[in-house]
Amino acid sequence: MSEFTPGVCRYCKCTEEMPCMLSSGDTCGWEHGTDRTVCTAPHCISNYWRDKRAKEREFKALTRRHSTGEICELQQKEIRQRKRESRIRCKARREREFKAQKEQAHVSKGEN
Ligand SMILES: [Zn+2]
Ligand SMILES: [Zn+2]
Repeated sequence: MSEFTPGVCRYCKCTEEMPCMLSSGDTCGWEHGTDRTVCTAPHCISNYWRDKRAKEREFKALTRRHSTGEICELQQKEIRQRKRESRIRCKARREREFKAQKEQAHVSKGEN
């Protein structure tokens, strides 16, 4: 959801009805991918990119902090779970092997 009003430049507040005049003699249009919230006037575009980069940096820093903490927690959970599972598996395997040994012993005893 955009925090800006579509159809109004967020920087110079121009609209489609009242576009700014560019140095080329054309009126401004909308910068691509801005949902009609940034016009193509050079200072608006440069403001837009400056803000966009700043926001991206902020967002990256935030997600990095956030995700490492979360990943750590998830990894620890996973490790704990895996340990638990492997213990269960080990126990089951031991029991199976023990049973098999017993059965083998039984069979060989019966043969003898
Ligand atoms: Zn503008
Ligand atoms: Zn404009």
